[in-house]
Amino acid sequence: MTKIKSSSLKGLGQKYGLKPRKKYTAVHRLLKSKRKCPECGSERFGRIAVGIWTCKKCNLKIAGMAYDVKL
Ligand SMILES: [Zn+2]
Repeated sequence: MTKIKSSSLKGLGQKYGLKPRKKYTAVHRLLKSKRKCPECGSERFGRIAVGIWTCKKCNLKIAGMAYDVKL
């Protein structure tokens, strides 16, 4: 059995406490921003699931990155 030192865990928690929050706000901004469909130019283009983007106008589906489209 390995004993985990609570002190080292606490250290990790503090280290990772700030970065994800910063990343989240950036992601949130990305998700909120409007995107244009590369096929028809419609702004009804958005993320329907993690990594999947779709255009509601022409039904184009793109498997992109989790939070942003690589065009
Ligand atoms: Zn489209």
